[in-house]
Amino acid sequence: MKKLIAIFAFFVLSALPLASPAASNKTVGYIKCPICGDKVNPKTAKNSWTHKGKKYYFAACCTKKDIAKFKKNQQQLKK
Ligand SMILES: [Zn+2]
Repeated sequence: MKKLIAIFAFFVLSALPLASPAASNKTVGYIKCPICGDKVNPKTAKNSWTHKGKKYYFAACCTKKDIAKFKKNQQQLKK
């Protein structure tokens, strides 16, 4: 009986990462801070900015000054 439980436990544990697409979505949900390249979770990011239909999220390490500078640079870009 112990062996059966062990096999069952192994099956459950090995199937877990496949059975939870939400977990992989979380990793995919992370985006790069355009200023420093740090990982940002859009759901928890305190600083965001929408410019020309694109939404930017800034990591917590970036100061308001950094963000203001970034915004200015983006607004000056002409494509
Ligand atoms: Zn940053």
